[in-house]
Amino acid sequence: MAKEKKVETLEDIPGIGEATAQKLRDAGITDIIELAVMPLADLVAIAEISENQARKILEAARKFADIGNFVQGDQILEKRKHIAKLTTGSQALDSLVGGGLETQSITEFFGPFGSGKTQIIHQLLVNVTLPEEKGGLNGEALLIDTENTFRPERISSMSKALNLNPEDVLKRIHVARAYNSSHQMLLVDKAFEIAKEHPIRLIAVDSLTAHFRVEYSGRSSLAERQQMLNRHMHDLLRFADVYNAVVAVTNQVSARPDVFYGDPNQPIGGNIVGHTATFRISLRRSKGEKRIARLIDSPAYPEGEVVIQISDEGVRDG
Ligand code: ATP
Ligand code: MG
Repeated sequence: MAKEKKVETLEDIPGIGEATAQKLRDAGITDIIELAVMPLADLVAIAEISENQARKILEAARKFADIGNFVQGDQILEKRKHIAKLTTGSQALDSLVGGGLETQSITEFFGPFGSGKTQIIHQLLVNVTLPEEKGGLNGEALLIDTENTFRPERISSMSKALNLNPEDVLKRIHVARAYNSSHQMLLVDKAFEIAKEHPIRLIAVDSLTAHFRVEYSGRSSLAERQQMLNRHMHDLLRFADVYNAVVAVTNQVSARPDVFYGDPNQPIGGNIVGHTATFRISLRRSKGEKRIARLIDSPAYPEGEVVIQISDEGVRDG
C-alpha cells in the first residue's frame, strides 16, 4: 500500500529538541504522524511550549508526515482477502459475525458483571492456538489483563475439553498485568515488539475501560478520557492491521441516568469505543449457564441474538 519512506524521528522536525521529543514520547507521541494530528492545546500542554511555537511545529509535522495515501478499492479488497476468522467456540455466535471473529478488526464484548466476558476471552486465547481447519489461527495470543482475572486453570480445562495439551497452550499465551491506563497503553507498544518474535494472532484487553473509568472519573476529565481511549483503540487497530490479528476487548456497562429510552445500561466509552470497534456484542445472563449474545450496530451484518452456554468446558452453543 503506502510507499516505504525513510523513517524520520520527532527530532527531525524544526523546533523539536531532545527534551521536547522526550516529553512527547513520555506522553505516547512517538512518531511524526501522531504529532501531526495532535490538537494544538495538547501540544502546548505536553511540550510546555508557547502556542506560537506549537503552531510552527504542527505545520512542519503536517508537511513531513506520511499521512498515507488514498488507495484504490481493489487494493482494499486484496487486503481483505487475508482476513481470517477465529471461532468463539459457539457456532451460533460465530455465525452472528459472519463465521467467527475477524482479523484486522476490533470486536468488543460488553455486558454487566458475570455476563461471561472474561470467560469468552479465555476461550479465544485457547482457540487461537487451534489449527485453521478447527477454527483457530494456529497462532499465539497476548492478553492485557487489567483486573487480574486471568486464570491459567481455566485455560487448562478449556484446553483439555478440546483435546489440547494445556501446557502447550499456556506457553502460547503471553499475559501482562496493566496497573493503570497509561501502562495499559504502553503494553500495546510492547505487543508490537513481542509480535516480531512470536506469531501473535490475537490481542485481548480485559477490561478495555476499567482503568480509564476509575482514573478519569468526573465530568471535567471526560474529554481527556475519550481522547486517550481513542488513541488506545487506534493503536490496537494498527496492531490488528499489521499482524492480521484479531483484537478482542471487554467493556462493562454503566447505568446512565441521562438515558431515558431503550436500555440505560450503556457500554463505557460510548461513541469512541463504538465507532472504532467493528463488531460490538452485548452479553447478558439467561438461565443457569446460558447467556444471550447480541450483535449491535454492525456495518456488514444484521442485528441478531443467539444463545450461548458457558460451562466448565468453555463457550459452546446454548
Ligand atoms: P466482570 O464484569 O465482573 O468482569 P464478566 O462478564 O467478565 O464479569 P465472567 O467472569 O466471564 O464475567 O463470568 C463469570 C461467570 O462465568 C460465573 O458467574 C459463572 O457463571 C461462569 N463461570 C466461570 N467459571 C466457570 C466454570 N469453571 N464453569 C462454568 N461456568 C463458569
Ligand atoms: Mg471479567
